[in-house]
Amino acid sequence: MNRVRVILLNAALGPLDYRAPQGSAIAPGTIVLAPLGPRQMTGVVWEPERLDAGEVDEKRLRPLLHVYDIPPIAEPLRRLIEWTADYYLAPIASVLRMTISSASALDGTRTVTEYRATGMVPERMTPQRGQALERIGERQGLVRELALAADVSDGVIRGLVKTGAIEAVEVSVDDPFPLPDPDHDPPALEEAQQAAAATFVAAVRAREFAPFLLDGVTGSGKTEVYFEAVAEAIREGRQTLVLLPEIALTEPFLKRFAARFGCEPVAWHSGLRQSQRRRAWRAIATGDARVVVGARSALFLPYRMLGLIVVDEAHETSFKQEDGVQYHARDVAVMRAKLEQVPVILASATPAIETRQMAEIGVYSEVRLPDRYGVAEMPDIAAIDLIQDPPPRGRWLAPTLVREIEANLEAGEQTLLFLNRRGYAPLTLCRHCGHRFQCPNCTAWMVEHRLVHRLACHHCGHMMPPPRACPECKEEDSLVPVGPGVERIADEVEALFPDARTAIVTSDTIWSPAKAAEFVGRMEAGEIDIVVGTQLVTKGYHFPNLTLVGVVDADLGLSGGDLRAAERSFQQIMQVSGRAGRGEKPGRVLVQTHEPAAPVINALVSGDAEGFYAAETEARRDAAMPPFGRLAGIIISSEDLAEATETARLIGRAAPRVENMAVFGPAPAPLAMLRGRHRQRLLVHAARSLDVQDVIRDWLGKLEWPRGVRVAVDVDPYSFL
Ligand SMILES: [Zn+2]
Ligand SMILES: [Zn+2]
Repeated sequence: MNRVRVILLNAALGPLDYRAPQGSAIAPGTIVLAPLGPRQMTGVVWEPERLDAGEVDEKRLRPLLHVYDIPPIAEPLRRLIEWTADYYLAPIASVLRMTISSASALDGTRTVTEYRATGMVPERMTPQRGQALERIGERQGLVRELALAADVSDGVIRGLVKTGAIEAVEVSVDDPFPLPDPDHDPPALEEAQQAAAATFVAAVRAREFAPFLLDGVTGSGKTEVYFEAVAEAIREGRQTLVLLPEIALTEPFLKRFAARFGCEPVAWHSGLRQSQRRRAWRAIATGDARVVVGARSALFLPYRMLGLIVVDEAHETSFKQEDGVQYHARDVAVMRAKLEQVPVILASATPAIETRQMAEIGVYSEVRLPDRYGVAEMPDIAAIDLIQDPPPRGRWLAPTLVREIEANLEAGEQTLLFLNRRGYAPLTLCRHCGHRFQCPNCTAWMVEHRLVHRLACHHCGHMMPPPRACPECKEEDSLVPVGPGVERIADEVEALFPDARTAIVTSDTIWSPAKAAEFVGRMEAGEIDIVVGTQLVTKGYHFPNLTLVGVVDADLGLSGGDLRAAERSFQQIMQVSGRAGRGEKPGRVLVQTHEPAAPVINALVSGDAEGFYAAETEARRDAAMPPFGRLAGIIISSEDLAEATETARLIGRAAPRVENMAVFGPAPAPLAMLRGRHRQRLLVHAARSLDVQDVIRDWLGKLEWPRGVRVAVDVDPYSFL
């Protein structure tokens, strides 16, 4: 018998059987190359008893083409891939693709050719060449990567190679990573930290599944504490995975890690070059990469001997993937730890209600750090009532806040103004006829970005230059911005304090780890007085001279209205407040609001987080909302409005009658059009005990819809748009 079952990396295909090479036993998890019609495709050998495949006669089996010389995907990861596919109703091949996420890692080549600028100026300079050389700067990469970075064609880069302005370099892709030293520079921990660290160290030694909630106020030294667990895993010769919610946080983390362990860990995120990706992937698969820090996509990598998982800022909703396989990295991380039999630490200053509840019922062990590290105190939080103390017309900063910024400038201390809105203004309209600029592809306003002189859709990326005349009434210079974004607040700050040095921090200005590092450097060197930023600045950063935080619009997050709106607002403002007063100087926080009596604001000002969480938790329990009940969204989309509506109705009509389950909709989604597709939604609400995935699989499995319709199921949704 040399029949093997293979999952190919193609979501449209089920498992297929092949013939193994004569005389060789192929273990499950082995990565292979298989023929498919006239093509070749990568796949992974699976246990035949776990997956059904169509019956194929022994004689008709096609032989495998190649068996890769890479350690097989281990059993715990195979079970995780199955669990993820099952739980999130995704094709198993789509999940597997997140494991085999570097195609070039599979082949055996040891070097690749990359390119970089030589500093030579080409004899014939064109605007395109100039742009390419300017944007490439110190960058190095494949022709394709450089072309993408410079926003020019591959041909322009190749042309520059011919002129000598860009040169080829051979890069060895399998250089080993340096080994972190667990005893390089251990910190002096305070008593509470020592106790917490000891708990984690013991758990790493025990080599058993143990989920922890590390609940510590901002600035309490959570990172130093879990670093002790990382150190222990290194001593034991095992690998650690640290998940971070944002790629922008990677750079400060790498520096902090290097200070503690003597070298940087292995980074994994979407910003890596192909050669870096390949090197990291192979080192992870062989076990040479001891500590890996990455975005959620690092979760499915083939660690050879995992010993510990840490999810930092575990409350962050960016751990939830919103396209493709719609998984929640925090939840999958706990499942991976369970299957690998290792401890997992969820670290947060503002744990999600879902996580708190798991600690409450004793499934997770809670480890608390109630005080800030060293002499630092928690900042004072006060509300500014925008009705009593309004900003002047056309401005957004209340007089009280402006006076505080002034005082802070005089004291030579840094200020952070937080507004979770990118761009200059969220809406542009014609003052003459009232025309509003809407995205042609989405139900969304075009947002003005003055830094780049564009109107942009934040949902699909559609951009246009702001027109001189209104497209509706043809009136010239009639367009006015409505409402503030960070760029407009920065304008206001510059008008008020022309001598202050300001910086805008959003994903538009900090779009790479290098940009983040540059910002951190300027802050630390005291080259910035006032930062105006979005949620990107709310977490992870540690600036001792930052003593004042102003929240420009605390009501903004509550307007969304989904079940987590209040919780999310609370977390966000707590996190941004946590940036203030992290050193010896005390911090203060001013929160601008139209509703100072709202429970969220009240809890922030009074410091009664427990009371706020208790009330929110009770409200969820009463309504049987997560974590006390279950939700699943079904999103039906098509370029054809009638097709989308028809299919949504068909699905709605076929909804099974199941006890403890209710189906709402279909109705047009709040984002009724996205990227040119019309969208309808259904929401399934079920009791916790119900296997809602099974019900949905059965329900949708019986139905058929036109080819152009996409039906996506979002299990445990975080977005209700
Ligand atoms: Zn007009
Ligand atoms: Zn759009």
